[in-house]
Amino acid sequence: MTTSNESQFVRARKVIPGGVNSPVRAFGSVGGAPRFVTSAAGARITDVEGREYVDLVASWGPAILGHAHPEVVAAVQQAAARGLSFGASTPAETELAETVIERLGGTRAAGGLIDELRLVSTGTEATMTAIRLARGFTGRPLLIKFAGHYHGHSDGLLAAAGSGVATFGLPASAGVPEPIASQTVVLPYNDLDAVRAAFAAHPDRIAAVIVEAAAANMGVVAPESGYNAALAAIAHEHGALLILDEVLTGFRVAADGYWGLEQARTGQAYDADLVTFGKVIGGGMPVAAVGGRSEVMAHLAPNGPVYQAGTLSGNPLAVAAGLATLRLADKETYAHLDRVSGVLQGAVSAALTEAGVVHTVQSAGNLFSVLFAPEPARDYAAVQAQETFRFAPFFHAMLDRGVALPPSVFEAWFVTAAHDDRALEQIVEALPHAARAAAQ
Ligand code: PLP
Repeated sequence: MTTSNESQFVRARKVIPGGVNSPVRAFGSVGGAPRFVTSAAGARITDVEGREYVDLVASWGPAILGHAHPEVVAAVQQAAARGLSFGASTPAETELAETVIERLGGTRAAGGLIDELRLVSTGTEATMTAIRLARGFTGRPLLIKFAGHYHGHSDGLLAAAGSGVATFGLPASAGVPEPIASQTVVLPYNDLDAVRAAFAAHPDRIAAVIVEAAAANMGVVAPESGYNAALAAIAHEHGALLILDEVLTGFRVAADGYWGLEQARTGQAYDADLVTFGKVIGGGMPVAAVGGRSEVMAHLAPNGPVYQAGTLSGNPLAVAAGLATLRLADKETYAHLDRVSGVLQGAVSAALTEAGVVHTVQSAGNLFSVLFAPEPARDYAAVQAQETFRFAPFFHAMLDRGVALPPSVFEAWFVTAAHDDRALEQIVEALPHAARAAAQ
């Protein structure tokens, strides 16, 4: 029996490409063997060597309540006892759709954002379906996306993408045929003139603009005030749709996502035609969704001609986890996440300042990341220009002291409801060591 992370990694690499089932897990930009995890509870994960870490990855977002929340686990166990998968509709799926619609302010007639919701299993499927739907609805071929934004790994969305594509320094993915890649117009983020110019250059050809509600896959880069609203206005002026990708931000930064957070801050609502969800909506199980206004959703099969399907879509265990998670994620949860995030942002910044490391803490709601540059970054070019080499020593110094950060400077840090004072203390105590490592 192999017991060290190193030997597990050697073993895994023989049978799994790179030893991982998702590239961002590979420690590619920080070096060393990734931790092979055997269990997780609350704010902590335990690896094969029996070492415990305070976790700031939270399964890349879903574990908003912390790992293995007893009520979520019980909901899944109860659902499992009733059957793992039926390939038929369940009342719980309808309840999840109703819950999500309610959280986003109710139907559009009631002043909310979405009328109908289709459940899928991954964020990639959600955005892929949203794009097909936008093309089917408008009869147009082109899509605008922003450099550094990540919307999953479907063919047309890997151009200048964030997350693993950014971590591994890839301009795009091999294997995407040029005729497909050429249907995606990639623009700099937070630059409305670029969007206007693209619509002028491709009249009546752009089906949709897809945007992360707040960019969090190139590190965190918030949209400038009014940016998402202006994107909606420009898209609509030209007969195109706005696809708001809340896979990462949805139900994490607030009960009604970044869309709701912006509205609370500015008092102004804006209109996205389609919205994608994932991560928290499944509470750690594979659920994602695409929702939107009924005129657009009516084009989806079986009602309309845009096809989409899934053997395990709306899986009862996954839906049970999602419903339990959303039920438990209340006002206090979000207040706690904001407080923990605020404390950590302050502590990271203080430690780096003390060690003389030039940095900026970037945030969008309770999501944040550290940028090793003196000025805030507003786009992918600025994010790429930072002193990325400082992150690997910072990361490993934290890991050595029992704190697991996302293993890339291009990822957000995720706090959870289970990050209590003890977990915070452990992180805060580790930070000065990591800051000194980053200074070298
Ligand atoms: N959209 C955003 C904003 C994401 O952050 C991600 C994943 O990180 C996706 C889509 C893809 O989701 P999944 O990994 O579930 O396919």
